Amino acid sequence: MSDLISSTLVPLIYLLSAVLFILGLKRLGRVRTARSGNTIASTAMLLAVLGTLLDMGQVDYRFIIAGVILGGLVGGIAAVKVEMTSMPEMVALFNGFGGAASALVALAVVWQELVETGSVDSAASVIGGSQAVTVGLSILIGALTLSGSLIAFLKLQGKLKRGQPIMLPGRHVINALLGIGAVVLVGQFAYQTGGGAEQPALMLTLVSLALGVLLVIPIGGADMPVVVSLLNSYSGMAASATGFVLGNNLLIISGALVGASGLILTQIMCVAMNRSLLNVLVGGFGEDGGGGGGDEEYSNVTSCGAEEAAMLLETAESVVVVPGYGLAVAQAQHAVREMADLLIARGCKVTYAIHPVAGRMPGHMNVLLAEADVPYEQLLEMDVINPEFKSTDVSIVLGANDVVNPAALSDKSSPIYGMPILNVHDSRSVFVVKRSLSPGYAGIKNTLFEHDNTTMIFGDAKKVLQDVINELKSL
Ligand code: NDP
Repeated sequence: MSDLISSTLVPLIYLLSAVLFILGLKRLGRVRTARSGNTIASTAMLLAVLGTLLDMGQVDYRFIIAGVILGGLVGGIAAVKVEMTSMPEMVALFNGFGGAASALVALAVVWQELVETGSVDSAASVIGGSQAVTVGLSILIGALTLSGSLIAFLKLQGKLKRGQPIMLPGRHVINALLGIGAVVLVGQFAYQTGGGAEQPALMLTLVSLALGVLLVIPIGGADMPVVVSLLNSYSGMAASATGFVLGNNLLIISGALVGASGLILTQIMCVAMNRSLLNVLVGGFGEDGGGGGGDEEYSNVTSCGAEEAAMLLETAESVVVVPGYGLAVAQAQHAVREMADLLIARGCKVTYAIHPVAGRMPGHMNVLLAEADVPYEQLLEMDVINPEFKSTDVSIVLGANDVVNPAALSDKSSPIYGMPILNVHDSRSVFVVKRSLSPGYAGIKNTLFEHDNTTMIFGDAKKVLQDVINELKSL
């Protein structure tokens, strides 16, 4: 009976789970189908866990139940407590935990197969050459992902030098030496004889942790989206390597799916930030960091109140809403929908311009606006909307800053130079709603605020929108 389970039932469950993972991932590619994609992928994960438990046969369910209760509690509390604006930090932590899990499983194999048995043979001869190298790779990628993700988490929270790059002298040489050291340690772990395999394994863990820290600390400001998606991909690769270590096909497939989709996302983010992937892999990009941008640096800034804005919006035939991170902070997604509905009812054409790195995680603005049931067809990607700005009456920028900064187009000394932006400055009139003249995530001055066709509306995005809605209703 148990033979039948592991030879037929478990592979069938794994196959079904792999197919569901692929279908779920495909559906996650579109906002309209994303919810069902998530449900399908969760079902696949449940099947994967059930299949693994069946495959293991005699397992101590007390540990599993304790794990389910503990993990369920942490996940449940996090899901309820974590604010929408802190989601990117949570994603960074999840990536890190994925890497940690892979490294720990690989280290457990080292202990089980080599240390506890007191083997004096090389890891390669005990568990096989490719297995031994894969254990090393699992430790390397897993530990690097853990420490890199923790640094990304701290940077996103603004706790590490307020997210600015930290430049160590000679960092490229240090990174290269650590990288070479890691490869040597993988080889030493796999082929060293005479016992003591735990020493290169633990040394490799430390070197990889250091490499993760050093690769991410020089990355500053606006470049974080690329890092977060790259670490996401690394966590998948680490899981896939662990799948080889454990001989678990489903883990190989699901890890490869995460690794590949993370790499595709990294490529999309690179294009959005105008960076090359090689640039990212070598690390240390976004080095100029940027700085300053305080109120005192601006001249020729004009501002108005909600009443004036409502009067112009009322007469506009076309309005483009540009959401940014501040919209998420203000939780103004429902208010923006209400304002748009009022304008549409008056015959105005309203669209939303979505920049690929607006907010703090890929797809942040899509998720936020979907929460307020903004129709998908009103959401336009950067390439589609940019040519439209020239014929737009009013652009209203809500808590966005870096993604509309024209310095990216014209100022070669700017750290965001070369990053494609939403060309709101081409519109006839621009309203920028934010609380002050303080900079966005990249920490730099925004020359849009000084343009003649730009008017600032200072205040919390939700409060300003509610005032504009009241004014529109009274007109
Ligand atoms: P920015 O971070 O450039 O700017 C957000 C602006 O929102 C701030 O200038 C702030 O100004 C304003 N703001 C904050 N709270 C409120 C509020 N309650 N009401 C109104 N305004 C508010 O946002 P963007 O979306 O333009 O750009 C995203 C940046 O984040 C890019 O640099 C991107 O590279 C980076 N990033 C993106 C990630 C991603 O995957 N999407 C991941 C990590 C980083 P004030 O304080 O004056 O109100």
